[in-house]
Amino acid sequence: MTIKFDDNTGLVPVIIQDYLNLKVLMLGYMNQEAFDKTLQEKKVTFFSRSKNRLWTKGETSGNFLKLIDWKLDCDKDTILIKAKPLGPTCHNGTTTCFKEETDKGFLYELQQTISDKIDNDNSTSYTNELYKRGINKVAQKVGEEAVELVIEAKDNNDELFLNEASDLLYHYLILLKAKGFSLEDVEKVLKSRSK
Ligand code: AMP
Ligand code: ZN
Ligand code: ZN
Ligand code: ZN
Repeated sequence: MTIKFDDNTGLVPVIIQDYLNLKVLMLGYMNQEAFDKTLQEKKVTFFSRSKNRLWTKGETSGNFLKLIDWKLDCDKDTILIKAKPLGPTCHNGTTTCFKEETDKGFLYELQQTISDKIDNDNSTSYTNELYKRGINKVAQKVGEEAVELVIEAKDNNDELFLNEASDLLYHYLILLKAKGFSLEDVEKVLKSRSK
């Protein structure tokens, strides 16, 4: 795969995307050296046009961008990097350099958090404790939360309804994980149905 760096500047634009929630975090530029360093150290390094030198994002703030994956666009003149931000990406302290987008990708962050808790044997979190009690217990909890949601649906208390809706979704994610599946697997099935 040969990247088409600009003939005059030797640079290529790089879009940084959060690997979990898919938010666009920032745009920067790389030359060949910055690209090689990024792959080697698994931390995003740009060529800063204002600093006129290699710039590892996070070098002073500590808010590094951990490299997860990268791709080229159709004509190989733009790089898309999937990264795990280790703090706010914008120097203004916000998550992204673009005005805050919606939190539509949050469920995938939550799914990862739950998965991490379960995979960490030493965790004494509620999530891990429930998981260790076995699939039947997890499934039973999902059933209970579903019933609680149904009860609140009949009432007129929005706060309680939303709380039970959240409980159900949380336990549903634990059950998916306990069965070895993910939201993406469910999406595939739903997608195949809507053809
Ligand atoms: P950092 O790389 O996070 O240690 O920040 C070092 C310096 O780089 C900051 O003081 C800003 O001048 C600049 N900077 C940091 N993050 C960004 C960004 N997302 N976009 C543009 N400039 C940035
Ligand atoms: Zn292109
Ligand atoms: Zn910014
Ligand atoms: Zn509940």
